[in-house]
Amino acid sequence: MCHLGPTLDPELDPVDRGPDRGVSAARGLPGTRAIRAVVGGTVQGVGFREATRRRARELGVLGWVRNADDGTVAVHAEGPSSAIEALIAFLREGPPGAAVADVSVDDVRTEGHEQFAVRGVSAGTFVVQEHAATSHHFDLRLEVDGVMRSWAVPKGPSLDPSFKRLAVQVADHGLDHNAFEGPTDGGGVVVWDRGHYEQGGRVAWPEALERGHGVFVLHGEKLRGGFALQRTRPGPKPRWLLVKRRDGEARPGSDVVAEQPASVLSGRALDEVLRDG
Ligand code: MN
Repeated sequence: MCHLGPTLDPELDPVDRGPDRGVSAARGLPGTRAIRAVVGGTVQGVGFREATRRRARELGVLGWVRNADDGTVAVHAEGPSSAIEALIAFLREGPPGAAVADVSVDDVRTEGHEQFAVRGVSAGTFVVQEHAATSHHFDLRLEVDGVMRSWAVPKGPSLDPSFKRLAVQVADHGLDHNAFEGPTDGGGVVVWDRGHYEQGGRVAWPEALERGHGVFVLHGEKLRGGFALQRTRPGPKPRWLLVKRRDGEARPGSDVVAEQPASVLSGRALDEVLRDG
């Protein structure tokens, strides 16, 4: 697993209060507690996150753990107060190989997590291919279980959180299609963006997608930060909305598909591919 750069905290975004959010037993009930902990010391690169996830699952604690850019390990945990106490005791000790110098704990609002996840690690590749066919659109593809789940986005993705972009779910593609660029029968394709993504939100990935509300963080060359896909109409060609979440990578007022048309593979824009082949 690799660290993916600047720490984002999509969980804090109030935009992601989707209808599919589960009702957690930990939601503000008496005897429950939610904390943010910051663990300092020799805590990164020693299996701290995996050990924390295992301990949290044993204890029935929900939330996440991630490596922060300053060398600390950050934890969000919610559950029964006694289980939270036990997790804090674990964090103060750390797994073998760790040397915990200090642990700070703040009580926070319960967020309704349904899993305990390791954050800041890749969930797979993503690609956005700009595609001129009978219509012009952008194909957003996320790697899930060995295939590329795909959505055709007619207007393309936006970094402006106020725009909800229609995204029509289309057939899965193979990973070998991710690098495809060039003319096609009656059109063409360019690799408009690519990179890795990590899961976000409160629901396990990819179950969140099956339930119709996926939150993920893109680490591309053009698209960065948290996004949400919200299914609005099921059926044979499910319709979704793609929305940029409000975080440090949001660019209100921007039009990224117009401003950055060049292929991340070749530097050519789609109209050049269509003109020159
Ligand atoms: Mn397409």
